[in-house]
Parts: sequence; structure tokens; C-alpha cells
Amino acid sequence: MATIVTRRTALRGLRCRACGALQPADERYVCADCYGPIEPEYDLASRSAQELRDEIESGPRSLWRYAPLLPVAEPVSHYAVGWTPLHEAPRLGTAIGIGRVLLKDDSRNPSLSFKDRPVAVAVARALELGLDTLACASTGNLAGAVAAAAARNGLRAFVFVPATTDDEKVAGAAAYGATVVRVRGTYDQVNRLCGRLADEERWGFVNFTLRPYYAEGSKTLLFECVEQLGWRLPDHVIVPVGSGALLTRTATAIAQLKGASLVDEKPCRIHAAQPAGCAPVSDAVLDGYRVVRPVRDPATLARSLAIGAPADGDGSVAAICESGGSAASVSDADVLECCELIARTEGLLVEPAGGVVVAAARALARRGVFGADESVVLYLTGNAYKGSFATPRLTDVIDADSDEFRSAYAGVLG
Ligand SMILES: *Cc1c(COP(=O)(O)O)cnc(C)c1O
Ligand SMILES: [Zn+2]
Repeated sequence: MATIVTRRTALRGLRCRACGALQPADERYVCADCYGPIEPEYDLASRSAQELRDEIESGPRSLWRYAPLLPVAEPVSHYAVGWTPLHEAPRLGTAIGIGRVLLKDDSRNPSLSFKDRPVAVAVARALELGLDTLACASTGNLAGAVAAAAARNGLRAFVFVPATTDDEKVAGAAAYGATVVRVRGTYDQVNRLCGRLADEERWGFVNFTLRPYYAEGSKTLLFECVEQLGWRLPDHVIVPVGSGALLTRTATAIAQLKGASLVDEKPCRIHAAQPAGCAPVSDAVLDGYRVVRPVRDPATLARSLAIGAPADGDGSVAAICESGGSAASVSDADVLECCELIARTEGLLVEPAGGVVVAAARALARRGVFGADESVVLYLTGNAYKGSFATPRLTDVIDADSDEFRSAYAGVLG
């Protein structure tokens, strides 16, 4: 007979990172005392590591298996978000000079990016609060994830994107039925507009008024990697950085697993990957872990990472420093080359953010950051099929003629 497991959150409240006050988990999204950032805090002391592990392992094959470590009481019925594969990638490893590479393939979530994870948690919270409208500022992928989750749960959605966002991503969000608002300007200007609207409308802005919940969804990538490695931490993890939510919550996730004795105490180094045209976090890390200086005009083909003033920028630098990690900033030419490289060596089509991560891994390897038998996890966060392929090298059309084929493809046939 199957055991019946009560799945519940161990949320204790929201702790202010600035002044340390513990606040109740109501509608607030900043500290009531000092307007500082607030983050969920959990009470796991009442459960043994074994109990917690059993509860997780008997859970659904989605991110909701980590419900005890997430801040919502009732996980909503949802798509199967998360529980994506972690692949050994020896061919890519050889090509970029790393002994043991593991790819966390998060390009296969319902809307084809890891953004389905934070959105799943934010939407569960929006439903708890009885909100009927979701909204977000997005560089592309978040718009799709919010639009899809809104459709799935019968909510209205407004998604705000810079006018330069890839047409395919905008079209995807619109197809899910969201109102897509294209805004002239950078992501940071779009974000300011959303900040004003959040004061005026009682909407669930997933990365603003729901941010303490939204950000928690990003912990689940690391949780899954650890469980997939047999409850062991990898030695290194390379994280693409936009707003810095994924990177800072990777650190939170490691601390939480250690705190609950689900993993042994050992270092797990977190490294930031950013494109050179918008690398406020990587630059700060490489410049001696200094304060983040915003980038006014991001210029990179890795548009999902084009956030010049990251909300969790300084938090990312601190988390990297504390973990003993580093960072790389890579050129768009390297990004294109590495998108192609991972496709040819491992059969995965990733969006440019994935190319940024592979190129950053290669740069870190060249600097001698990884030991010969250390495990290096690469987060692949978005799928190339969603939008612009980084390498649209379509060949000319030929006639149905074998000689023409042979001459046109002589270079490939050898
Ligand atoms: C949003 C995004 C990121 C960065 O996530 P943050 O939490 O904003 O730092 C990385 N990769 C892809 C594909 C994204 O869409
Ligand atoms: Zn405070």
C-alpha cells in the first residue's frame, strides 16, 4: 500500500536581508520597516534529513517534489515544470578542456526555458492571494512562461517587453493569449514602467510584487542537480546571469540543503556567465568583487541576459565571493561559436544564453579554475527552437540532382 505523504511548506515567514526583521507572509514584497529585500525563511528543524529526503523522493516528477522547501502551502495543479535531465557531456568536455561536464538541460520545460520554474511558484502564490491578473517585465522568456501559466490557470496576463525582443518570443507569448506590450527602450526602462503600474493595479507582477516567491522557484535547478547526483553537491556550477535571481537562489539552495543535512559540507563554487556587452556582475567579480555598476546600453545577441541594472546584482557578487567562485564575460562571437559547438558535440540546440554558459566554462577552464576530476555543472536555460537560432547558416537551395548535391556539399563530403 502506498504511503500517504502530507506535502506542506515549512515557511516560517519572510526575513529582511537588510535589517533582519522577520515578517509575516502576507501581501508585502519589501520589508515594512526599511523597504529592504525580503526572503522566505523555513523551519526544517522538526524533520530529520531522512524524513525530508523520503518526502522529496516520493514526490511528483516536477519541481513540486521540493514543496517542503518552497514557500507556498498548496502547489497548484500545473504542467510538469522541472525535473529536467542532467547529462554527462564528455564530447563537449573534451572540446572545452574540462574533465567532467554535466549539462542541466532546462531548455525542455513547458515554455522552453527555466523561467517556468519561478513562474510556477509565483502563480501558486498569486492564486493563494486571489489575484486574477499576472504581469511581468521580460527580456523574452519570462513573457512566454507567464503567458502560458496564465492560460493554464485561467488568469489574465500583461507582459511588457523591450521593442527589440525577438519576434518569435513575442509571438509565442501572444499565442498563449497574453496582452504583449512592446516598449521603446531597454529592459530597465520596461522594469521602471512595471514598478509604477504595480503601485496602481492589484496585479501579480511575478518579478516585482511576487518576487520573494518567484525567486524561490529558481532554487529547484540546484536541488534537482544534487538529487540527480545521488544527493551530492557538484564541485562547480556555472550560472547565466540576468537579474541575478537564479544565481543568488543557487547559493540559497546550497545553504538550505546543507542546513537540512541533505548534503555533506563541502565547497560548491558558483561562477557567473555573462555576455561582454552586458556583464555588470562578471565585471564586478573580476574587478575584485566590487559593487555592481549598471550598464546603460546593453549590446549583445544574448538578449535574455541583457539586464543592465540587475535587481540581485550585488547579491550575486556576494554569493560568488562566499562560494569561492569566479566569473567570465564572453564575446558574441564566442557565444555563437559555442552554441554551434554544443549542438555538434551533444545534440542540443540552446539559445544564446546557453552559448554564454559554454563559452564561460571554456574561459574558466583556460584560467585553470577546475581541478582534473572535479564535476562542473552547466545550466542550459533556454531552447533555440523558441526564437532566433544563434547560427542561422542555411545553405542555398539545390535542384534534385545528385551531381549538384555533390558539388554543393563537396566541403562536407570530403
Ligand atoms: C532570465 C534568464 C536567465 C537569467 O535569470 P535571472 O534569474 O534573471 O538571472 C538565464 N537564461 C535564460 C534563458 C533566461 O531567460
Ligand atoms: Zn528591513
